[in-house]
Amino acid sequence: MHAEEKDFAVIIVGGGMVGASLAVALASLPLRIAVIEAFDPRKRGAPQPSYDDRSTAIANGSKQILETIGVWEDMAKDATAISAIHISDRGRFGMSRINAHEENVPALGYVVPNRAIGRSLWAALGACPNIQMFCPARLESLVNEGDTVKVTVKDEDGNIANLQGRLVAAADGAQSVVRKILGIDATVRDYGQTAIISNVSTEKPHRNIAYERFTDNGPMAVLPMTEGRSALVWTVPSEQAEEILQMDDPQILERLQELFGYRLGHWQKIGSRASYPLSMIKSKEQTRHRVAIIGNAAHGLHPIAGQGFNLSLRDVAGLAEVIAGADDPGDRQVLEKYRRWRAADQARVMNFTDALVRVFGNPLSSVQAVRNLGLVMFDLLPGGKSLLARHTMGRGGDLPRLARGVPLQ
Ligand SMILES: Cc1cc2nc3c(=O)[nH]c(=O)nc-3n(C[C@H](O)[C@H](O)[C@H](O)COP(=O)(O)OP(=O)(O)OC[C@H]3O[C@@H](n4cnc5c(N)ncnc54)[C@H](O)[C@@H]3O)c2cc1C
Repeated sequence: MHAEEKDFAVIIVGGGMVGASLAVALASLPLRIAVIEAFDPRKRGAPQPSYDDRSTAIANGSKQILETIGVWEDMAKDATAISAIHISDRGRFGMSRINAHEENVPALGYVVPNRAIGRSLWAALGACPNIQMFCPARLESLVNEGDTVKVTVKDEDGNIANLQGRLVAAADGAQSVVRKILGIDATVRDYGQTAIISNVSTEKPHRNIAYERFTDNGPMAVLPMTEGRSALVWTVPSEQAEEILQMDDPQILERLQELFGYRLGHWQKIGSRASYPLSMIKSKEQTRHRVAIIGNAAHGLHPIAGQGFNLSLRDVAGLAEVIAGADDPGDRQVLEKYRRWRAADQARVMNFTDALVRVFGNPLSSVQAVRNLGLVMFDLLPGGKSLLARHTMGRGGDLPRLARGVPLQ
């Protein structure tokens, strides 16, 4: 650690998908930025919780943000375009399909492995001279002294570094240590569901189609990936998760085949499985004087509609923009502006995602819901058709500059 360099404009706790995105977004400004991250994603085998075996569906608006901050070109090497979304309800007639060409867009969204997101973001972090990394290292303490926030950071060898910043951005995940230190409570709703993820190979090619299939046990998303594979996100009642995780490959493939049907022919291969218990988490405060809570630390969502990172990227773009226009990034008014600006989008996405979970958690209403909603991965769609995009993307004045392709400087 560089003990001599300890004054920063912004200290970001957590270099996961959201914290790293914020750091890269801010790097174009004349600010000194520190990023504290416990697990180095560049180290093979490191148990990095953000850049793990999952893949993330990236909406067009998010792609625009990633493009504007200069990381999309590299990420695109591993991105798979979604040219259509197919929604169906197991055992029932309801079905819906949305095509990119009908929407006049090259793609409805993109699927990117989280490790590729990490590779591109961390390459950008390493190339920014005004970003100093503290990794692997953990935030140990944080004291808000009014004009500055002082934090201590401990690395793997037990060395301590003392840093101070004008703003601390807490991007340290659902179990946020910053939230705990500051005594900021979070509302948690346990859905009693667990997402099981894996990569699968099927007999027929995916032809860039994303499938969202509702079953009486919960939804399955099958997203197109590189090398003809698909990324599976299978939501099951938590009490069944352990039994499913114990199944061997033929057993689990048989179960998946039965639930999904033969649209992709036989399910041939499945990779290792990982599981994520699902809950909705909402921090009771998004900002404090000189502190902003972002990403999973601010709001954790059910992955049913692939919204979590997409929403957080809009937060990142908004926070970066208010900081760009301020002399003091941690000023009360700056953070208040950010909070007010982002509140409506956050509430809408959280409420809508929660409503989807409830509606599709009830088998009796699922056909009707599919018909009424027509689609589920709605925010992967461009402006006109998307419920969410009508609110967020459609209101041009509210969209952060980075999401409109306009750099901060
Ligand atoms: C199964 C599943 C599928 C999903 N699919 C999608 C999707 O398709 N589209 C979408 O938009 N979203 C999706 N999401 C949501 C998305 O994964 C999250 O929004 C995103 O991971 C949030 O990132 P984050 O950086 O806020 O938090 P995290 O990913 O939790 O990262 C937090 C980081 O902080 C670090 N950290 C924690 N404590 C400390 C400390 N004390 N000191 C230093 N570092 C610390 C951790 O090591 C970690 O790197 C999905 C989620 C799940 C569970």
